[in-house]
Amino acid sequence: MKNFVLETNNNSVYLICKPLKEMGVKHFFSSRLGGFSKEDYAELNLGIFTNDNKDAINKNINKALNDNNMNSNIVYLKQVHSVVIHVVDSNNANIIKEKVGDALITKERDIPIGVFTADCVPCIVYDNKNKIVAVVHAGWKGTYQKILYKTIKKIIDDLNGDSDNIFVALGPAIGQCCFEVSYDVADKFNFVTKTDDKYFVDLFLENKKQALDASVKEENIFISNICTKCNNNLFYSYRVNNNTGRIGTFVSL
Ligand SMILES: [Zn+2]
Repeated sequence: MKNFVLETNNNSVYLICKPLKEMGVKHFFSSRLGGFSKEDYAELNLGIFTNDNKDAINKNINKALNDNNMNSNIVYLKQVHSVVIHVVDSNNANIIKEKVGDALITKERDIPIGVFTADCVPCIVYDNKNKIVAVVHAGWKGTYQKILYKTIKKIIDDLNGDSDNIFVALGPAIGQCCFEVSYDVADKFNFVTKTDDKYFVDLFLENKKQALDASVKEENIFISNICTKCNNNLFYSYRVNNNTGRIGTFVSL
């Protein structure tokens, strides 16, 4: 939790990365507390593609954006555990919204970009020198395919980003404590522990390594280390209930 704080805002709770806030980056990792959804989806479900009541989802999204002083003209993707990355601007925002993919980058102000997760790792990337932001959905499949690494490299190589000034924040996701996988999945990763013939992968450390491999400084990587399954009262966890909501991770310049 170092570098992160839970803030209550208008009766809803959001996880904020303190260094990003101090640099003036509008962002939040939402929690499930303080919204309009009921039962399995209670309360602040932002998962626009879940089977929850659509009115409740829309009210929740508008509330979260309002609570965090963000423009309501958000951009998100149909997430498919891919390594498809889109660069968004005001000209293509409406087109990008119809696309599949798992990471968004923008250099433009007031275009909130977001991902929806329940156990997968939500990542925010920020280039403080060139004012570029990105948001990434990294489940185990995306992590295995190195979506965070590829997003950071795209910022550096295609958008002239500066690795010395890039910051990365990893929000709530399933922790190694709870992320038991088959041998076949474990075999794809670096940070695995084996207990009683069970394999557990650390997706936080996997993604930290990708940021380091993309030349981000270690001190510029902030990891919430909050396990969504252990903290299912605060965050949605697909492993606890596969008919559940999604937290939203949004960032805007
Ligand atoms: Zn856990």
